[in-house]
Amino acid sequence: MRIRIDRTKCEGIGICGFFAPTVFELDDRGTLALLAEDVPGGLISEIEQAVEGCPTQAISIGDDER
Ligand code: SF4
Repeated sequence: MRIRIDRTKCEGIGICGFFAPTVFELDDRGTLALLAEDVPGGLISEIEQAVEGCPTQAISIGDDER
């Protein structure tokens, strides 16, 4: 399952990094780095919490459509 960030919506608040720090990381300027493009094994629950916790609905997960 792929993780997608809509960078037009992300405001660098960092709630995602609170729930899943090994996947979402903010730098000093509040720019979000996505450390994994696919949901890592065993972390689906944390990623779902990040999706639900993001106040701007910037995160989505879904099957790869490539
Ligand atoms: S919680 Fe949402 S708005 Fe905040 S850094 Fe993560 S993706 Fe961006």
